[in-house]
Amino acid sequence: MATLWAEDTHAVINLGKGHPNPRLLPLQAVNDAYSNASVAPDAAVTLLQYGRMQGNPDLCASIARWTAESCDNRPNLPSADDIVITTGSGPALSLIMQLFTNPGDTILVDSPGYFLAYYSFEDCRVKPIPVPTDAHGLDVDRVEALLKEGVRPSMVYTVPIANNPTAADMSEERKEKLVQLAREYKFKIAADEVYQFLKFGTSKVPKSLFEYDDPSDPVVFSINSFSKLLGPGMRLGWLTAHKPFISRILDCGALHSGGGFNPLTSAVVLQLFNNGFMDEHIALLRREYGASCVALCKAVEEHLVPALKPDEKLQYHTPRGGFFCFITLPERYDADKLLVQCKENGVSFFVGKHFSPAKDSFKSSVRLCFAWLEIDALVEGVRRLGKTVKEFS
Ligand code: PMP
Repeated sequence: MATLWAEDTHAVINLGKGHPNPRLLPLQAVNDAYSNASVAPDAAVTLLQYGRMQGNPDLCASIARWTAESCDNRPNLPSADDIVITTGSGPALSLIMQLFTNPGDTILVDSPGYFLAYYSFEDCRVKPIPVPTDAHGLDVDRVEALLKEGVRPSMVYTVPIANNPTAADMSEERKEKLVQLAREYKFKIAADEVYQFLKFGTSKVPKSLFEYDDPSDPVVFSINSFSKLLGPGMRLGWLTAHKPFISRILDCGALHSGGGFNPLTSAVVLQLFNNGFMDEHIALLRREYGASCVALCKAVEEHLVPALKPDEKLQYHTPRGGFFCFITLPERYDADKLLVQCKENGVSFFVGKHFSPAKDSFKSSVRLCFAWLEIDALVEGVRRLGKTVKEFS
C-alpha cells in the first residue's frame, strides 16, 4: 500500500497527523524510571532476561490494580491473570487476527473506522465488511440485521471508546448487545480501547467490552496501549481476555522465542505506576488534550462553519476524548481536491475515504487531530482550512 501520510513541512500545518504532542512525551520521567529500575537488586534479570511469557507479573498486577482504582472498583474488571503484555495495540490486533481468524473469513468493522487495522486484515486475508457508526458508536442493530441476513463473521473489530476517527463512544446498551450477539452467533470481538483512559472533563473511565464478557464462554479481546499514555516509542501495550483466550495466546509462535514481550520497557513502566507518575501524567494529558480539543472545535465553529454557503452544513460529533475530530462537509467538497488546494494555502488533513475498507465512502470528510499540534497552530490551521473551503471550486 502506498503511504497515506499528508506532507509534514513547516510551511504546511499538518492537521492530519495523529501522533501525541511531542511536548507531552515524558522523557525525563522515563529516564529516571529506567535509572531506578536498573539499580534494583534483580535488575539484570528483570530487564534483560527473556522473562515470563505473559509479561512482567508485577506490571500485569499493577495494570489490574490501577484499572480497578481508575474504574472505582466496579465488578468484572480484569485480574492480573487476564492480562498479557504486548508490544502495542497494532501488533496485538495482528496477533489476535492471526490466531483467531482464517483466510477467507468475513469480519465486521466500524465505518468510518481505524484504517491502520486494515493492514492486519490484509495480512490475514480476511474480508472486512463496513458497518455504519453514529454518535453512539458501531450500529449494533445493523450488525444484528447482517447476522439475520446470514452474514457469519468470525470477528468484529471496533474502537468503542473515543473512536478513531469519529470520537464517538459506544453506548452501554450497544456494548452489552454486541457481546450477547457474539455469544449467540459465535463470533469474537477485538475491542481496540487505546483511548479508554483519555476521556476529558471526567474522572469516569468508560467500560471496556471485557467487562461485559462471560469468563465461562468468552468472546472479547480488549486491546490497550501505553502509546497514547506515555509514548508510542515505548512499544508496549496490554491485552485483556479470559483464560481460554489467554492460554491460546501464550501458545502462539510470536512468544516462542523464549519469553514475553519487552521486559526492559515493562520494568520502566512498572516504576511509573509505582511512583505515582502514571496518574499524574494521565491527568495532565486529559487537561492538555481536552483544552486542545475545545480550541479545535471553537476554531471549526469560527472559521470553518461560516466558510460554507448559507444553505450548507457540516457534521461532526464534538470529541470528549481521544485525539480526533471527523468532519463531514457537504458532498460537493471532494476532500482529495480540497487537500490539493489546502496545501497551497499551508494546511493539510487526512482524507476521509481512507477510513473505510471500500475507500469509496467519506469522500467529503476530513480527519483532524488535536493532539499533535499546539493550540496556536491548530487554530491557524483551521483558519487556513476555512479560507480554502470558502475559495473551493
Ligand atoms: N488503535 C487505534 C484506534 C489507534 O488510534 C492507534 C494509534 N494511531 C493504534 C491502535 C496504535 O497503537 P499502538 O501504538 O499501541 O500500536
